[in-house]
Amino acid sequence: MRQKKFILQENEIPTQWYNIQADMVNKPMPPLNPGTKEPLKAEDLFPIFAEECARQELDQEHRWIDIPEEVLEKYRFYRSTPLVRAYELEKALDTPAHIYFKNESTNPLGSHKINSALPQCYYCKQEGVTNVTTETGAGQWGAALSYAAKVFGLEAAVYQVKISLQQKPYRSIMMRTFGAAVEGSPSMSTRAGKDIITADPTHPGSLGTAISEAIELAMTTPNCKYTLGSVLSHVSLHQTIIGLEAEKQMEMAGEYPDIVIACFGGGSNFSGIAYPFMRHNLSGEKNTTFIAAEPNSCPKLTRGKFEYDFGDASGYTPLLPMYTLGHNFKPANIHAGGLRYHGAGTIVSQLLKDGLMQGVDIPQLETFEAGILFSRTEGIIPAPESCHAIAAAIREAKKCKESGEQKTILFNLSGHGLIDMTAYDQYLNGDLRNYTITDEEIQSNLESVPKILG
Ligand SMILES: *Cc1c(COP(=O)(O)O)cnc(C)c1O
Repeated sequence: MRQKKFILQENEIPTQWYNIQADMVNKPMPPLNPGTKEPLKAEDLFPIFAEECARQELDQEHRWIDIPEEVLEKYRFYRSTPLVRAYELEKALDTPAHIYFKNESTNPLGSHKINSALPQCYYCKQEGVTNVTTETGAGQWGAALSYAAKVFGLEAAVYQVKISLQQKPYRSIMMRTFGAAVEGSPSMSTRAGKDIITADPTHPGSLGTAISEAIELAMTTPNCKYTLGSVLSHVSLHQTIIGLEAEKQMEMAGEYPDIVIACFGGGSNFSGIAYPFMRHNLSGEKNTTFIAAEPNSCPKLTRGKFEYDFGDASGYTPLLPMYTLGHNFKPANIHAGGLRYHGAGTIVSQLLKDGLMQGVDIPQLETFEAGILFSRTEGIIPAPESCHAIAAAIREAKKCKESGEQKTILFNLSGHGLIDMTAYDQYLNGDLRNYTITDEEIQSNLESVPKILG
Protein backbone atom coordinates (compact mmCIF):
# COMPACT_ATOMS: atom_id res chain seq x y z
CA MET A 1 0.00 0.00 0.00
CA ARG A 2 1.27 3.47 -0.78
CA GLN A 3 2.32 5.46 2.24
CA LYS A 4 0.44 8.66 2.93
CA LYS A 5 1.71 9.91 6.25
CA PHE A 6 5.24 10.27 7.68
CA ILE A 7 5.95 10.67 11.38
CA LEU A 8 9.30 10.84 13.21
CA GLN A 9 10.19 8.76 16.25
CA GLU A 10 10.67 10.74 19.45
CA ASN A 11 14.48 10.41 19.24
CA GLU A 12 14.47 11.72 15.65
CA ILE A 13 12.90 15.08 16.51
CA PRO A 14 15.51 17.82 15.87
CA THR A 15 17.21 19.15 19.03
CA GLN A 16 18.53 22.38 17.47
CA TRP A 17 16.97 25.26 15.54
CA TYR A 18 18.54 26.51 12.30
CA ASN A 19 19.70 30.14 12.14
CA ILE A 20 19.77 31.08 8.47
CA GLN A 21 21.41 34.43 9.24
CA ALA A 22 24.72 32.58 9.69
CA ASP A 23 24.58 31.32 6.10
CA MET A 24 23.32 34.43 4.33
CA VAL A 25 25.84 36.18 2.11
CA ASN A 26 23.99 39.48 2.41
CA LYS A 27 23.03 39.64 6.07
CA PRO A 28 19.84 41.45 7.07
CA MET A 29 20.57 45.12 7.76
CA PRO A 30 20.46 46.00 11.46
CA PRO A 31 17.40 47.36 13.27
CA LEU A 32 17.89 51.04 14.11
CA ASN A 33 17.14 53.13 17.15
CA PRO A 34 14.43 55.47 15.80
CA GLY A 35 15.84 58.44 17.74
CA THR A 36 19.57 58.20 16.98
CA LYS A 37 19.35 56.02 13.84
CA GLU A 38 22.18 53.95 15.36
CA PRO A 39 22.15 50.14 14.88
CA LEU A 40 20.69 48.37 17.89
CA LYS A 41 22.63 46.00 20.10
CA ALA A 42 21.01 43.07 21.90
CA GLU A 43 21.21 45.02 25.19
CA ASP A 44 19.00 47.72 23.70
CA LEU A 45 16.24 45.13 23.36
CA PHE A 46 16.55 43.74 26.91
CA PRO A 47 13.95 46.13 28.40
CA ILE A 48 11.29 44.73 26.07
CA PHE A 49 12.21 41.12 25.26
CA ALA A 50 13.59 38.15 27.14
CA GLU A 51 17.37 38.59 26.96
CA GLU A 52 17.94 35.26 25.22
CA CYS A 53 15.39 36.19 22.55
CA ALA A 54 17.14 39.55 22.07
CA ARG A 55 20.47 37.76 21.57
CA GLN A 56 18.93 35.29 19.12
CA GLU A 57 17.34 38.20 17.26
CA LEU A 58 20.69 39.66 16.27
CA ASP A 59 22.74 36.46 16.08
CA GLN A 60 24.36 36.27 12.64
CA GLU A 61 27.04 33.85 13.72
CA HIS A 62 25.71 30.59 15.16
CA ARG A 63 24.18 28.34 12.53
CA TRP A 64 22.67 25.88 15.03
CA ILE A 65 21.08 26.84 18.34
CA ASP A 66 20.24 24.23 20.97
CA ILE A 67 16.58 23.86 21.89
CA PRO A 68 16.42 23.90 25.71
CA GLU A 69 15.56 20.49 27.18
CA GLU A 70 12.47 21.93 28.95
CA VAL A 71 11.15 23.19 25.62
CA LEU A 72 11.91 19.92 23.84
CA GLU A 73 9.95 18.12 26.50
CA LYS A 74 6.88 20.27 25.67
CA TYR A 75 7.48 19.92 21.93
CA ARG A 76 7.29 16.16 22.37
CA PHE A 77 3.65 16.46 23.50
CA TYR A 78 2.65 17.25 19.91
CA ARG A 79 5.72 16.77 17.72
CA SER A 80 6.67 15.49 15.30
CA THR A 81 3.75 16.78 13.26
CA PRO A 82 2.70 14.65 10.30
CA LEU A 83 4.00 15.12 6.78
CA VAL A 84 1.20 14.01 4.47
CA ARG A 85 1.06 13.20 0.76
CA ALA A 86 -2.16 14.79 -0.54
CA TYR A 87 -3.11 12.00 -2.95
CA GLU A 88 -6.77 12.95 -3.05
CA LEU A 89 -6.03 16.59 -3.82
CA GLU A 90 -3.63 15.49 -6.58
CA LYS A 91 -6.37 13.31 -8.03
CA ALA A 92 -8.95 16.09 -7.92
CA LEU A 93 -6.55 18.40 -9.75
CA ASP A 94 -5.55 15.66 -12.18
CA THR A 95 -1.96 16.85 -11.83
CA PRO A 96 1.28 14.92 -12.29
CA ALA A 97 2.71 16.96 -9.36
CA HIS A 98 3.33 15.24 -6.04
CA ILE A 99 1.82 17.40 -3.32
CA TYR A 100 2.90 17.09 0.30
CA PHE A 101 1.84 19.14 3.27
CA LYS A 102 3.32 19.52 6.73
CA ASN A 103 0.41 19.54 9.15
CA GLU A 104 1.03 22.08 11.92
CA SER A 105 -2.66 22.09 12.85
CA THR A 106 -2.56 18.93 14.93
CA ASN A 107 -1.61 20.39 18.30
CA PRO A 108 -4.45 21.37 20.65
CA LEU A 109 -3.90 25.10 19.99
CA GLY A 110 -4.46 24.51 16.30
CA SER A 111 -1.54 26.35 14.66
CA HIS A 112 2.24 26.56 14.40
CA LYS A 113 2.35 29.50 16.86
CA ILE A 114 2.94 27.25 19.88
CA ASN A 115 6.43 26.41 18.49
CA SER A 116 7.63 29.89 19.45
CA ALA A 117 5.28 30.60 22.38
CA LEU A 118 6.91 27.80 24.39
CA PRO A 119 10.55 28.94 24.09
CA GLN A 120 9.64 32.62 24.57
CA CYS A 121 7.83 31.86 27.83
CA TYR A 122 10.56 29.46 28.90
CA TYR A 123 13.28 32.11 28.50
CA CYS A 124 11.14 34.68 30.36
CA LYS A 125 10.70 32.26 33.26
CA GLN A 126 14.45 31.49 33.32
CA GLU A 127 15.20 35.19 33.55
CA GLY A 128 12.86 35.82 36.49
CA VAL A 129 10.07 37.51 34.54
CA THR A 130 6.56 37.11 36.02
CA ASN A 131 4.28 38.63 33.35
CA VAL A 132 4.12 38.51 29.58
CA THR A 133 2.12 40.61 27.22
CA THR A 134 1.41 40.40 23.53
CA GLU A 135 -0.83 41.23 20.60
CA THR A 136 -2.89 38.84 18.56
CA GLY A 137 -4.89 39.08 15.34
CA ALA A 138 -7.24 36.20 14.70
CA GLY A 139 -6.15 34.86 18.09
CA GLN A 140 -3.93 31.91 17.26
CA TRP A 141 -0.87 33.55 18.74
CA GLY A 142 -2.78 34.80 21.78
CA ALA A 143 -4.14 31.33 22.42
CA ALA A 144 -0.70 29.72 22.07
CA LEU A 145 0.95 32.34 24.25
CA SER A 146 -1.74 32.07 26.94
CA TYR A 147 -1.22 28.32 27.11
CA ALA A 148 2.59 28.55 27.09
CA ALA A 149 2.49 31.20 29.83
CA LYS A 150 0.43 28.86 31.98
CA VAL A 151 2.83 25.97 31.29
CA PHE A 152 5.78 28.01 32.60
CA GLY A 153 3.88 29.77 35.42
CA LEU A 154 3.60 33.28 33.95
CA GLU A 155 0.66 35.72 33.86
CA ALA A 156 -0.39 36.74 30.33
CA ALA A 157 -2.16 39.89 29.07
CA VAL A 158 -3.25 39.86 25.43
CA TYR A 159 -4.36 42.72 23.16
CA GLN A 160 -6.48 41.29 20.36
CA VAL A 161 -7.29 43.25 17.20
CA LYS A 162 -10.79 44.53 17.96
CA ILE A 163 -12.42 43.45 14.70
CA SER A 164 -11.02 39.93 15.08
CA LEU A 165 -12.16 39.72 18.68
CA GLN A 166 -15.68 40.59 17.53
CA GLN A 167 -15.63 38.28 14.51
CA LYS A 168 -13.96 35.37 16.30
CA PRO A 169 -14.92 35.38 19.95
CA TYR A 170 -13.98 31.76 20.50
CA ARG A 171 -10.23 32.25 20.57
CA SER A 172 -10.51 34.98 23.18
CA ILE A 173 -12.50 32.50 25.25
CA MET A 174 -9.69 29.99 24.76
CA MET A 175 -7.18 32.56 26.03
CA ARG A 176 -9.29 33.31 29.09
CA THR A 177 -9.73 29.58 29.66
CA PHE A 178 -5.93 29.32 29.87
CA GLY A 179 -6.02 32.16 32.40
CA ALA A 180 -4.99 35.18 30.28
CA ALA A 181 -6.52 38.67 30.44
CA VAL A 182 -7.78 39.77 26.99
CA GLU A 183 -8.64 43.24 25.64
CA GLY A 184 -9.73 44.45 22.20
CA SER A 185 -7.29 46.86 20.56
CA PRO A 186 -7.40 49.81 20.21
CA SER A 187 -8.43 49.98 23.88
CA MET A 188 -8.69 52.77 26.42
CA SER A 189 -6.19 51.05 28.73
CA THR A 190 -3.03 52.50 27.15
CA ARG A 191 -1.86 55.89 25.96
CA ALA A 192 -1.36 54.46 22.45
CA GLY A 193 -4.86 53.00 22.36
CA LYS A 194 -6.46 56.25 23.58
CA ASP A 195 -4.62 58.27 20.93
CA ILE A 196 -5.74 55.92 18.17
CA ILE A 197 -9.38 55.93 19.31
CA THR A 198 -9.36 59.72 19.64
CA ALA A 199 -8.13 60.09 16.07
CA ASP A 200 -10.51 57.45 14.70
CA PRO A 201 -13.28 56.26 17.06
CA THR A 202 -14.30 53.42 14.73
CA HIS A 203 -10.76 52.12 14.17
CA PRO A 204 -11.18 48.32 13.72
CA GLY A 205 -7.72 47.67 15.13
CA SER A 206 -4.77 46.09 13.40
CA LEU A 207 -1.77 44.07 14.47
CA GLY A 208 0.07 47.40 14.44
CA THR A 209 -2.25 48.99 17.03
CA ALA A 210 -2.21 45.91 19.24
CA ILE A 211 1.59 45.74 19.18
CA SER A 212 1.81 49.37 20.28
CA GLU A 213 -0.46 48.68 23.24
CA ALA A 214 1.32 45.50 24.30
CA ILE A 215 4.77 47.13 24.13
CA GLU A 216 3.51 50.08 26.15
CA LEU A 217 2.19 47.73 28.82
CA ALA A 218 5.51 45.85 28.92
CA MET A 219 7.48 49.08 29.23
CA THR A 220 5.30 50.45 32.04
CA THR A 221 4.90 47.24 34.08
CA PRO A 222 7.74 45.90 36.26
CA ASN A 223 8.90 42.35 35.48
CA CYS A 224 6.79 42.20 32.37
CA LYS A 225 8.16 41.31 28.94
CA TYR A 226 6.68 41.62 25.51
CA THR A 227 6.39 38.60 23.23
CA LEU A 228 5.69 38.52 19.51
CA GLY A 229 4.27 35.69 17.41
CA SER A 230 5.68 36.60 14.01
CA VAL A 231 7.95 38.98 12.04
CA LEU A 232 11.01 38.87 14.29
CA SER A 233 14.06 36.78 13.56
CA HIS A 234 14.02 34.84 16.84
CA VAL A 235 10.41 33.78 16.13
CA SER A 236 11.44 32.51 12.70
CA LEU A 237 14.33 30.69 14.32
CA HIS A 238 12.01 28.79 16.68
CA GLN A 239 9.74 27.86 13.77
CA THR A 240 12.56 26.12 11.88
CA ILE A 241 11.62 22.98 13.80
CA ILE A 242 8.91 22.65 11.11
CA GLY A 243 11.25 22.50 8.14
CA LEU A 244 13.92 20.47 9.91
CA GLU A 245 11.34 17.78 10.63
CA ALA A 246 9.93 18.06 7.12
CA GLU A 247 13.40 17.56 5.64
CA LYS A 248 13.73 14.22 7.45
CA GLN A 249 10.18 13.25 6.56
CA MET A 250 10.62 14.07 2.86
CA GLU A 251 13.64 11.79 2.98
CA MET A 252 11.43 9.02 4.37
CA ALA A 253 9.09 9.67 1.44
CA GLY A 254 12.07 9.38 -0.90
CA GLU A 255 11.61 12.87 -2.37
CA TYR A 256 13.00 16.39 -2.17
CA PRO A 257 10.75 19.40 -2.84
CA ASP A 258 11.10 21.41 -6.05
CA ILE A 259 8.77 24.03 -4.60
CA VAL A 260 8.19 24.99 -0.95
CA ILE A 261 5.16 27.16 -0.15
CA ALA A 262 3.69 28.81 2.92
CA CYS A 263 1.22 31.59 3.61
CA PHE A 264 2.68 34.87 4.75
CA GLY A 265 1.66 37.24 7.55
CA GLY A 266 4.93 38.40 9.07
CA GLY A 267 6.82 35.36 7.89
CA SER A 268 7.18 32.91 10.78
CA ASN A 269 5.56 29.80 9.32
CA PHE A 270 7.08 30.54 5.91
CA SER A 271 10.52 30.86 7.50
CA GLY A 272 9.91 27.75 9.53
CA ILE A 273 9.23 25.48 6.60
CA ALA A 274 11.50 27.25 4.09
CA TYR A 275 14.84 28.03 5.75
CA PRO A 276 15.98 24.47 6.47
CA PHE A 277 15.49 23.66 2.75
CA MET A 278 16.89 27.02 1.65
CA ARG A 279 20.18 26.24 3.36
CA HIS A 280 20.82 23.71 0.59
CA ASN A 281 20.16 26.42 -2.00
CA LEU A 282 22.57 28.75 -0.21
CA SER A 283 25.26 26.05 -0.26
CA GLY A 284 24.65 25.48 -3.98
CA GLU A 285 23.45 21.86 -3.67
CA LYS A 286 19.80 22.45 -4.53
CA ASN A 287 17.68 24.80 -6.55
CA THR A 288 14.30 24.76 -4.82
CA THR A 289 11.74 27.50 -5.49
CA PHE A 290 10.31 29.22 -2.40
CA ILE A 291 6.92 30.91 -2.57
CA ALA A 292 5.31 33.05 0.13
CA ALA A 293 1.56 33.51 -0.41
CA GLU A 294 0.03 36.75 0.84
CA PRO A 295 -3.48 38.23 0.53
CA ASN A 296 -3.85 40.58 -2.42
CA SER A 297 -5.47 43.05 -0.02
CA CYS A 298 -2.25 43.21 2.04
CA PRO A 299 0.53 42.78 -0.55
CA LYS A 300 3.76 43.87 1.15
CA LEU A 301 5.95 41.31 -0.60
CA THR A 302 4.62 41.85 -4.11
CA ARG A 303 3.80 45.58 -4.00
CA GLY A 304 5.41 46.97 -0.85
CA LYS A 305 8.61 48.98 -0.67
CA PHE A 306 11.91 47.98 0.94
CA GLU A 307 12.47 50.63 3.59
CA TYR A 308 13.25 51.10 7.27
CA ASP A 309 9.83 51.19 8.94
CA PHE A 310 8.23 50.71 12.33
CA GLY A 311 6.77 47.34 13.28
CA ASP A 312 3.74 48.95 14.96
CA ALA A 313 1.21 51.67 14.24
CA SER A 314 2.45 54.14 16.87
CA GLY A 315 6.17 53.94 16.17
CA TYR A 316 7.30 52.30 19.45
CA THR A 317 9.41 49.57 17.86
CA PRO A 318 12.92 49.90 16.44
CA LEU A 319 13.11 50.75 12.74
CA LEU A 320 13.29 47.50 10.79
CA PRO A 321 14.55 47.07 7.23
CA MET A 322 11.53 45.44 5.63
CA TYR A 323 9.18 45.26 2.70
CA THR A 324 6.33 47.39 3.98
CA LEU A 325 3.04 48.99 3.04
CA GLY A 326 3.65 51.64 5.69
CA HIS A 327 3.14 51.18 9.43
CA ASN A 328 -0.21 53.04 9.29
CA PHE A 329 -1.62 50.58 6.76
CA LYS A 330 -5.19 49.56 7.57
CA PRO A 331 -5.74 46.25 5.80
CA ALA A 332 -9.16 45.32 4.46
CA ASN A 333 -11.27 43.24 6.74
CA ILE A 334 -10.42 39.82 5.28
CA HIS A 335 -10.89 36.64 7.27
CA ALA A 336 -7.22 35.67 7.25
CA GLY A 337 -6.62 37.85 10.32
CA GLY A 338 -3.11 36.49 10.80
CA LEU A 339 -2.06 37.86 7.39
CA ARG A 340 -3.25 41.42 8.00
CA TYR A 341 0.15 42.91 8.81
CA HIS A 342 1.89 45.76 7.00
CA GLY A 343 5.46 44.44 6.89
CA ALA A 344 7.69 41.41 6.40
CA GLY A 345 10.45 40.20 8.72
CA THR A 346 13.97 41.50 8.12
CA ILE A 347 15.44 38.15 7.06
CA VAL A 348 12.65 37.40 4.59
CA SER A 349 12.90 40.95 3.25
CA GLN A 350 16.59 40.51 2.51
CA LEU A 351 16.02 37.09 0.92
CA LEU A 352 13.30 38.53 -1.29
CA LYS A 353 15.47 41.48 -2.26
CA ASP A 354 18.23 39.04 -3.23
CA GLY A 355 15.87 36.91 -5.34
CA LEU A 356 16.21 33.83 -3.13
CA MET A 357 12.41 33.53 -2.77
CA GLN A 358 9.29 34.99 -4.33
CA GLY A 359 5.94 36.33 -3.20
CA VAL A 360 2.51 35.78 -4.76
CA ASP A 361 -0.66 37.61 -3.82
CA ILE A 362 -4.00 35.83 -3.86
CA PRO A 363 -7.57 37.16 -3.77
CA GLN A 364 -9.76 36.13 -0.85
CA LEU A 365 -12.30 34.14 -2.91
CA GLU A 366 -9.59 32.01 -4.53
CA THR A 367 -8.22 31.15 -1.08
CA PHE A 368 -11.59 29.90 0.16
CA GLU A 369 -12.18 27.97 -3.05
CA ALA A 370 -8.85 26.24 -2.37
CA GLY A 371 -9.77 25.65 1.27
CA ILE A 372 -13.05 24.03 0.28
CA LEU A 373 -11.36 21.72 -2.24
CA PHE A 374 -8.75 20.78 0.36
CA SER A 375 -11.47 20.08 2.95
CA ARG A 376 -13.39 17.88 0.56
CA THR A 377 -10.33 15.92 -0.58
CA GLU A 378 -8.10 15.68 2.51
CA GLY A 379 -10.76 15.99 5.21
CA ILE A 380 -9.08 18.87 7.04
CA ILE A 381 -10.69 22.32 7.21
CA PRO A 382 -7.78 24.76 6.93
CA ALA A 383 -7.37 28.12 8.65
CA PRO A 384 -8.21 31.04 6.30
CA GLU A 385 -4.51 31.97 6.47
CA SER A 386 -3.42 28.48 5.43
CA CYS A 387 -5.87 28.60 2.49
CA HIS A 388 -3.43 31.04 0.86
CA ALA A 389 -0.70 28.39 0.87
CA ILE A 390 -3.11 25.80 -0.51
CA ALA A 391 -4.23 28.20 -3.27
CA ALA A 392 -0.60 28.84 -4.24
CA ALA A 393 0.11 25.10 -4.24
CA ILE A 394 -2.92 24.50 -6.46
CA ARG A 395 -1.70 27.16 -8.90
CA GLU A 396 1.66 25.37 -9.13
CA ALA A 397 0.02 21.95 -9.49
CA LYS A 398 -2.11 23.30 -12.35
CA LYS A 399 1.02 24.61 -14.08
CA CYS A 400 2.45 21.09 -13.82
CA LYS A 401 -0.69 19.73 -15.44
CA GLU A 402 -0.28 22.14 -18.36
CA SER A 403 3.43 21.47 -18.82
CA GLY A 404 3.32 17.78 -17.93
CA GLU A 405 6.14 18.25 -15.41
CA GLN A 406 6.09 16.05 -12.35
CA LYS A 407 7.27 18.47 -9.67
CA THR A 408 7.28 17.81 -5.96
CA ILE A 409 5.41 20.52 -4.06
CA LEU A 410 5.56 20.91 -0.29
CA PHE A 411 3.39 23.38 1.55
CA ASN A 412 2.87 24.18 5.20
CA LEU A 413 -0.61 23.78 6.63
CA SER A 414 -0.13 26.40 9.33
CA GLY A 415 -3.39 25.77 11.17
CA HIS A 416 -6.94 24.41 11.09
CA GLY A 417 -10.04 26.52 10.59
CA LEU A 418 -12.41 24.92 13.09
CA ILE A 419 -12.72 28.18 15.01
CA ASP A 420 -13.13 30.17 11.78
CA MET A 421 -16.32 28.54 10.59
CA THR A 422 -18.19 31.85 10.32
CA ALA A 423 -15.77 32.68 7.50
CA TYR A 424 -16.68 29.45 5.70
CA ASP A 425 -20.35 30.13 6.40
CA GLN A 426 -20.09 33.51 4.71
CA TYR A 427 -18.18 32.02 1.78
CA LEU A 428 -20.72 29.24 1.30
CA ASN A 429 -23.55 31.78 1.48
CA GLY A 430 -21.87 33.85 -1.22
CA ASP A 431 -21.31 36.77 1.13
CA LEU A 432 -17.52 37.11 0.85
CA ARG A 433 -15.81 39.34 -1.66
CA ASN A 434 -12.37 40.25 -2.94
CA TYR A 435 -10.62 43.42 -1.89
CA THR A 436 -8.10 44.97 -4.20
CA ILE A 437 -5.95 47.89 -3.35
CA THR A 438 -4.88 50.57 -5.82
CA ASP A 439 -1.34 51.77 -6.41
CA GLU A 440 -2.43 55.21 -5.25
CA GLU A 441 -3.59 53.86 -1.89
CA ILE A 442 -0.27 52.06 -1.42
CA GLN A 443 1.70 55.12 -2.50
CA SER A 444 -0.16 57.47 -0.19
CA ASN A 445 0.21 55.13 2.75
CA LEU A 446 3.94 54.75 2.15
CA GLU A 447 4.29 58.46 2.80
CA SER A 448 4.18 57.67 6.53
CA VAL A 449 7.42 55.69 6.25
CA PRO A 450 10.59 57.42 7.45
CA LYS A 451 12.94 57.94 4.50
CA ILE A 452 16.13 56.31 5.75
CA LEU A 453 17.25 54.56 2.57
CA GLY A 454 16.36 57.57 0.41
C1 LIG B 1 -0.41 33.70 12.57
C2 LIG B 1 -0.73 32.74 11.53
C3 LIG B 1 -0.22 32.91 10.23
C4 LIG B 1 0.60 34.08 9.80
O1 LIG B 1 1.77 34.34 10.50
P1 LIG B 1 3.22 34.01 9.97
O2 LIG B 1 4.12 34.57 11.00
O3 LIG B 1 3.38 34.69 8.64
O4 LIG B 1 3.31 32.56 9.86
C5 LIG B 1 -0.51 31.94 9.31
N1 LIG B 1 -1.30 30.88 9.60
C6 LIG B 1 -1.82 30.70 10.83
C7 LIG B 1 -2.69 29.52 11.09
C8 LIG B 1 -1.55 31.63 11.82
O5 LIG B 1 -2.04 31.45 13.04
